[in-house]
Amino acid sequence: MDGSLGSALTADYTAMMERLRATFKSGKTRSFAWRKQQLHALSEAVAAHEDDIVDVLAKDLGKPKAESLIAEVDYVTKECQLAAKKCESWARPRKVGTPLSNMPAKSMIVPEPFGVALIIGAWNYPLQEVFGPLAGAIAAGNCAVLKPSELAPASSELLRKIAAQALDSDAFATVLGGAEETSTLLEQRFDKIFYTGGAKVGRIVMGAAAKHLTPVTLELGGKSPAIVAADANLDVTARRIVWGAFLNGGQLCVRPDYCMVEESIYEDFLKTAREVVHQFYGENMQQSEHFARIVNERHFDRVSRLLNSGEIVIGGETDREDRYIAPTILRDVKPDAPAMQEEIFGPILPTFPVKSMDEAIAFINERDKPLALYAFTSNSATGDRFVRETSSGTVMVNDCVVFQTNHHLPFGGVGESGMGAFHGVHSFDCFSHLKAVMKRPFWGDVKLRYPPYSEKGTKL
Ligand code: NAD
Repeated sequence: MDGSLGSALTADYTAMMERLRATFKSGKTRSFAWRKQQLHALSEAVAAHEDDIVDVLAKDLGKPKAESLIAEVDYVTKECQLAAKKCESWARPRKVGTPLSNMPAKSMIVPEPFGVALIIGAWNYPLQEVFGPLAGAIAAGNCAVLKPSELAPASSELLRKIAAQALDSDAFATVLGGAEETSTLLEQRFDKIFYTGGAKVGRIVMGAAAKHLTPVTLELGGKSPAIVAADANLDVTARRIVWGAFLNGGQLCVRPDYCMVEESIYEDFLKTAREVVHQFYGENMQQSEHFARIVNERHFDRVSRLLNSGEIVIGGETDREDRYIAPTILRDVKPDAPAMQEEIFGPILPTFPVKSMDEAIAFINERDKPLALYAFTSNSATGDRFVRETSSGTVMVNDCVVFQTNHHLPFGGVGESGMGAFHGVHSFDCFSHLKAVMKRPFWGDVKLRYPPYSEKGTKL
């Protein structure tokens, strides 16, 4: 970075932070009336820009209209409305028990806002990944800086416009830009950082946060497995896995990234999955309105290189100018194949047979902890084995991806797939310090605890 540009950015960001910090200190963001008004304004602005949102996502990602409406517009408006409705009750002191040794006393957990938060988003769901956590940050009473991804430029520009129209500019600001701008921004002291993206940059973010001891939530990705047991309903399983694997052109953090199938039904599964792909996207899949494009040429080249990781069951066609990679299913993929070495984040689904559920569980446990794990089986005991015997951010039995719309469930990873969680009340907690408070009266002061201590020692 040119030195003068760097110092100009630093000066801009310092001034912005001073403005937001002064607003936080003023107590403005603590008012529930203000929080609710901001959340409603954001929800209404997103709804009012529905058509623009569909347009920019089509431009950046070729995202089908239905996917934009459900995963961006509906998702964000619902998170904002829920947060507006519940923020006051979420913020109430939460009574907890008090042990006899502390009596007489009352104990409670009192949520308080951190201060000024930084929310860094990725490009695949560019509005959801910034406005979604923002709903929690506002509900909890924080100011925030929003940093959408430069790789979805039309969406990021619209996000900036919506935020500027809807939100209090004393409390919120949007910064556009890529690695340079984000690195400079990260030199500032934030009170909370919420990052969505890959683990490599996640480490950079966490390193920068460590300098100021800023707490971080890292929403990362990884290789989320799908496992199909011999007793699964094949039609439903194939539909659900194919849908999840090729949604948004496979550019989804919780997509089934590879699929292990019990060997006795492997051929039937592949046959059914192949038919389902055609049912969803037609015979000429490139013409389908229901299938997205790869975000840019760099990712197109990266994903294309993974195509020859196994025998093609369906798909395999590419068109670089159109950033099109066909929905592709690969068979008999070996553990050392390129597609099994990194998160695919594109429309390729490697599959391979396994002899047993034991083998599938061992395979998962030898690798990084996934963000999500999908087990398909008619036997609830088999589903429970995956819950008990593996570690991942989420386990879903007999479906994939849709658990994300249940705001009662915390959404987040573990190990390489991330740390911390959000959605619904979990977003509120994610942007709150949960302060421990104990209140005691003056009566009942037991002198035993004070020196001089007895020979036997004193128990509190
Ligand atoms: P990306 O390239 O857009 O990067 C994410 C953010 O980091 C962007 O805002 C970008 O500007 C910033 N950034 C990039 N380089 C940086 C640097 N050197 N220093 C500081 N900031 C930098 O997105 P990506 O990483 O390609 O995203 C894809 C990954 O995100 C996948 O692994 C996917 O699974 C994961 N993801 C996770 C979730 C989740 O909720 N867990 C959601 C979506 C995506």
